[in-house]
Amino acid sequence: MNSDDFSELRLEGVSRAFGKSAALADLTLTVKRGEFVALLGPSGSGKSTALNCIAGLLPLTAGTISLDDRRVDHLAPEQRGFGMVFQNYALFPHLTVRGNIAFGLKMRKVPRAEITRRVDAALALVQLSAHADKQPGQLSGGQQQRVAIARAVVVEPPVVLMDEPLSNLDAKLRHEMRAEVRRLHQELGLTTIYVTHDQEEALSLADRLVVLSDGRVQQIGTPEEVYLRPINSFVADFMGYRN
Ligand code: ADP
Ligand code: MG
Repeated sequence: MNSDDFSELRLEGVSRAFGKSAALADLTLTVKRGEFVALLGPSGSGKSTALNCIAGLLPLTAGTISLDDRRVDHLAPEQRGFGMVFQNYALFPHLTVRGNIAFGLKMRKVPRAEITRRVDAALALVQLSAHADKQPGQLSGGQQQRVAIARAVVVEPPVVLMDEPLSNLDAKLRHEMRAEVRRLHQELGLTTIYVTHDQEEALSLADRLVVLSDGRVQQIGTPEEVYLRPINSFVADFMGYRN
């Protein structure tokens, strides 16, 4: 599976329950190739559940996930091949930056010369060429998160899933990395689904927002639509809230 052979990711009625409680109910959403979609909602609204369902880390209790007409919801995470970036970087501590970024390519048995070429390009993209031979422990939080992003995108996944990737960073760095994430999305022509509880982050990054509350979609729309024309009082309150 590579990024050139689909035009949209389709979620239809995607649901996940834990016991009797629905963490995510009936999420229907089409993400076009190249689009940046933010899943936005307060803590406990089902954002991570949705992302984990898309990644294949969590089985669905109902619904389907497809790349165009190809069902992927029965596939294991590796078979879906989506790139993933999480809040707690989850880098391999004993590998160098280069080793971390190369890992997925080695797993895929990409020839060595091509690995070197692609890792060098990824390092340049996230501006870490000078740090290629360091270990994660020698890097700042922002640099570590850049490595995590490089590692996710170097395999050119069809879809990149990010779960609050910046929320462990201080405010200044969070703003810088926001621009970085958007730039990488653009330059690499990624299709990105980005989870955040931060309204401002979602508004500034995404082409479209999916606002969740209690596992249910409240509104799907462009930043302008959601911000200027909230569909109900939940969205109005949530979007108006500033911390
Ligand atoms: P968010 O990422 O928006 O904060 P989550 O998707 O993590 O929300 O959680 C949505 C709801 O599902 C919450 O009520 C949470 O307690 C519940 N939940 C999430 N994961 C589990 C789990 N593994 N077992 C039981 N309940 C869970
Ligand atoms: Mg979460």
